[in-house]
Amino acid sequence: MSGTTGFYYSDQMMQYYFGEDHPFQPVRYRKVKEKLEEIGAFGPALELRQSAPVKQQLLRSVHTRTYIDQVRELSKQGKGYLDKGDTPVTSSLYQGALEVTGATIMGVEAVAKGEIQHALNPAGGMHHAHPSAASGFCVFNDLAVATRLLQKKYGYDRIAIIDIDAHHGDGTQDIFYEEEVLTISLHRFGPGFYPCTGNMTDIGKNDGYGYHLNVPLPPGVPDEIYLWAYDQVVKEALDAFKPDFILHQFGTDAHFGDSLADLGLTTKAYERIAEMAHDLAHKHCDGKLVVTGGGGYNIDASVRSWALIACAVSGAFPYDPEALHHLQDSRIHPKQAINREEIEGVVSYLVDKVIPNIH
Ligand SMILES: [Zn+2]
Ligand SMILES: [Zn+2]
Repeated sequence: MSGTTGFYYSDQMMQYYFGEDHPFQPVRYRKVKEKLEEIGAFGPALELRQSAPVKQQLLRSVHTRTYIDQVRELSKQGKGYLDKGDTPVTSSLYQGALEVTGATIMGVEAVAKGEIQHALNPAGGMHHAHPSAASGFCVFNDLAVATRLLQKKYGYDRIAIIDIDAHHGDGTQDIFYEEEVLTISLHRFGPGFYPCTGNMTDIGKNDGYGYHLNVPLPPGVPDEIYLWAYDQVVKEALDAFKPDFILHQFGTDAHFGDSLADLGLTTKAYERIAEMAHDLAHKHCDGKLVVTGGGGYNIDASVRSWALIACAVSGAFPYDPEALHHLQDSRIHPKQAINREEIEGVVSYLVDKVIPNIH
């Protein structure tokens, strides 16, 4: 039985903006909300909730004061870059980053207090952000800030962070690399592909040894193989870890229509992953699941995927049963040749060698 799901949104999220020509366009958050309104998904199962900016103090649990001040000051000037050229600064960026982080924090707190069962933030999922550095369009790591809040204020100590963005969740992994926070990232991996980390042999250090799982994937991976790998690794790892709270990054840049990653997922895969994540949250932690956005550079595909994700997690049913069908891809993705054995090798390494380290 599923309780209410909160969909956190504010028009202020649009301030998380890098400029007109930048691939990262926050307008997709508004379009997801509008799509859910259009199909009549909001109601008792899926509640539209107004989000608000995070308090700067909370960021300090993850980010250095110097870095936070740097983002604020550069934002006042409205120019420059936060990294080596991917993440430019606009005058609204600091406020926008507080907004997208705030939506994740509000969702996490509402779920932690039992006000709602699941929460969705179409923004957030800023997994490349490091304690004192921005990277790959990510300014503040909302997943990490949320984890620290759950640990310190609410006493959760079995937190799992699952990341299905096309890119490795490097910032999140690094922050918790020596701790018993479970991180699982499925991502494209290969020479020159950003951020060039996340090989299967990177599994954590000290107390974190075995608690950091990476599923590196070649270009073109289709639904069937991806879903199989997710099912094997995520299900096994959560069975071993027994999380008391699940954070799930749902970047949609692994969609076949996305220009940055060249993976091969369809909207059906996103819907199915959302169903699996939802089932796992009910199996392990009374449904405590917070889902964030992430990458997504094909706006149409990202908006349709996210509307499907919101319906799958919440069980919301649109006015028109056909509406969900219309959100699916209308064309079929041309198949690429994939070395399936290589992916099977990664999965058996993780299941047989790494997951048994989890206690
Ligand atoms: Zn549920
Ligand atoms: Zn990405």
